[in-house]
Amino acid sequence: MLTIALPKGRIAEETLEIFTHIFGGEFEFESRKLILDIGEFRFLNVRNQDVPTYVEHGAADIGVVGLDVITEKELDIVNLLDMQLGKCKVSIGIKNEDELDWSKPNIKVATKMVNITRDYFSQKAVGVEIIKLYGSIELAPLVGLSDVIVDIVDTGNTMRENGLKVAEDIMESSAYLIANKNSFYAKKDEILSLYEKIKMAVESRN
Ligand code: AMP
Repeated sequence: MLTIALPKGRIAEETLEIFTHIFGGEFEFESRKLILDIGEFRFLNVRNQDVPTYVEHGAADIGVVGLDVITEKELDIVNLLDMQLGKCKVSIGIKNEDELDWSKPNIKVATKMVNITRDYFSQKAVGVEIIKLYGSIELAPLVGLSDVIVDIVDTGNTMRENGLKVAEDIMESSAYLIANKNSFYAKKDEILSLYEKIKMAVESRN
């Protein structure tokens, strides 16, 4: 039996499609149900940010989560495979009429992703004041809370519709298959067999 934590939404749907493709059958959560038991698998329906918590604590053996989340949280897990789903970028956004001025002494940056932001600006040896927000990051520069933002960009529509542009990309992200370290040793054969099947399915989708 393998327990697999999936993030609610598109990544869970696409991951379950891959399972359907590999094993046949109905890999789909009933509405509002948080657990799906099918064959040798138990799927957990959790928030994106919570997937690594379930996996790190061993409540799930494996999980699927964005590289942005893995990088931000500096997790003690095994990184198995780029599933090439949920592709997006982590980028610096700024008002259309502004330019990013690296020589400014203390750039104010609003973001959910405090660690990624701190690491990126410190690599450039630029001092920043990081303002942690939990959502609607794009609002911050519009009302003078920050000079720039660091946020996830998918289509770019949210920034465009709010009069912002991408000043610089920090990293590309996509969903990765991850495993709990103990599970990876205790259930190595099961996990590697599943890994091989998912890898082939991912390669055939691309
Ligand atoms: P978009 O307008 O398509 O560029 O999407 C950007 C908005 O959606 C931002 O507010 C992001 O925080 C959010 N978003 C897009 N993709 C993801 C993702 N994979 N994970 C978390 N948030 C996302």
